[in-house]
Amino acid sequence: IDEESLRFLETPNVSFEDVGGMDRVKEEIDLKIIQPLKHAELYAAYGKKIGGGILLYGPPGCGKTHIARATAGQVDAKFISVGINDILDMYIGNSEKNLHEIFEMARRNKPCVLFFDEVDALGASRYDMRNSSGRQLINQFLAEMDGIDSNNEGVLIIGATNAPWQLDGAFRRPGRFDRIIFVDPPDAAARAQILQIILKGKPTEKLDLSSVAKATTDFSGADLKALVDIAIEEKLKEAFKSGVPAPLSNKDLINAAKKHRPSTKEW
Ligand code: ATP
Repeated sequence: IDEESLRFLETPNVSFEDVGGMDRVKEEIDLKIIQPLKHAELYAAYGKKIGGGILLYGPPGCGKTHIARATAGQVDAKFISVGINDILDMYIGNSEKNLHEIFEMARRNKPCVLFFDEVDALGASRYDMRNSSGRQLINQFLAEMDGIDSNNEGVLIIGATNAPWQLDGAFRRPGRFDRIIFVDPPDAAARAQILQIILKGKPTEKLDLSSVAKATTDFSGADLKALVDIAIEEKLKEAFKSGVPAPLSNKDLINAAKKHRPSTKEW
């Protein structure tokens, strides 16, 4: 992972204003991550320990990765996003080494938001794991997170999962993922905001996004992105003939919504 590791390191160009809705999540992140970074001395004055991570859970496509990246942008931090497949290696000991490398990269580049997708896969209940190497990987993760032998100050850890109940209890102790936040599917007001963000800079007519929001019940942020993509593809077909990029209309968006199946219904 060492040589190609730089591909993980991002300087995000999004911040909280690029995140629609999610007000409660923003508040929690502000209290737990942003303020401690800005006001370390105030926390010290009260003897309040800084550290630990936030675990986001909820249906796919509702902005967990997006808000983690925006958190980094919000505080001018670097951003590293890793999934379980970036870490797992078939050779004994290599997965642990990869994990260590990732944490080290974050420590070298602080302040840095370190985002782990699918932490449940990493921490699938220890007793369910078929082999001992799974346990070793969990233990390595916990040790890295605790900052044993290393300083995690300025390393902000956010994890995401669709299945928190599968997470090993050891992950949730104080100082680890001690804040768990449900990222629910966007309500109508949030959907209108998300559409506004996705459509920024694109040619549009005067839109009534609240009507589009009403027509997109159960759509996740990712679904809304797909919807806009569908509408643009239709517009492009016309534009190929006319040579002119006609602006997107409300009707274009609502028609596109009919062609996309929302993904969060079962949540
Ligand atoms: P998964 O569990 O599948 O990884 P996720 O919750 O991490 O899903 P994201 O990858 O963050 O979902 O969201 C997918 C895309 O949808 C984002 O890249 C972003 O463009 C858009 N999106 C989702 N939620 C929002 C939001 N609240 N505001 C703006 N854009 C959003």
